[in-house]
Amino acid sequence: MRIIFIGLVAIILTSCKIVQNKTNFHKNVVVAHRGAWKTLGLPQNSIASLKQAIKLGYRGSEFDVRMTSDDSLVIHHDPDFNNLEIEKTTFAELRKFKLSNGEELPTLHEYLSAGLANNSGTMLVCEIKPYDGGAERADKVATKVVQTVKDLNAQKLVGYISFDYNILKKVHQLDPKATTQYLEANKTPEEVAADGLTGVDYYFTAFQKNKDWISMAKKKGITLNAWTVNNPEDMDWLLKDGFDFITTNEPELLLSKEKALKK
Ligand code: MG
Repeated sequence: MRIIFIGLVAIILTSCKIVQNKTNFHKNVVVAHRGAWKTLGLPQNSIASLKQAIKLGYRGSEFDVRMTSDDSLVIHHDPDFNNLEIEKTTFAELRKFKLSNGEELPTLHEYLSAGLANNSGTMLVCEIKPYDGGAERADKVATKVVQTVKDLNAQKLVGYISFDYNILKKVHQLDPKATTQYLEANKTPEEVAADGLTGVDYYFTAFQKNKDWISMAKKKGITLNAWTVNNPEDMDWLLKDGFDFITTNEPELLLSKEKALKK
């Protein structure tokens, strides 16, 4: 009897651990593209826009990572910041300039640290930008990004996206459990699944042109994401087709549409 009791306790504890190891992301499809910046007039990719996305309970908040000439990882969409090309400028030079809300240009470490605070279920959707500096440098960026995520113990909250297929394959190699979604619609969901990546995140018209890709992704058990969906009619059909994520500059609108559909 005692052995059975101990066994039962062990099973319960093990199942609790399994639950703990899996992040329960918010149950909506909304990924705020470059954070939730629009309504409050915040800079895109700012920590303030990330915190706003977390506060509003979106399933994901996206941001872009680039590497400086002296190998620092910073969060910025465009290749240049204050007319300085990020890839060819040192971190110290770039950091002399602030974002429009007074924030410093965030490092990946700072951005993820902010994203881990008071976050009960918003995925930190990390876009690793393709690299002009060749395959070796792209490999280095992927390795440094994954290492930073591991250093912060943030693996369960971070998902990776990239237009560079090799960068995503490198991420998968370094962290086989990582969420990895490919952005360039030049591979079928079947091909993406065969390489061990976990999803496709394509410009939404790619799914209009290739309608079978939606069922193919579902059959292969990989996730569906679409960017950047700002038009109400486009939101409607993607919501009806059962997308797991929809990336948008209009997160409030998308969330209200999704809620209305569930009623
Ligand atoms: Mg991006």
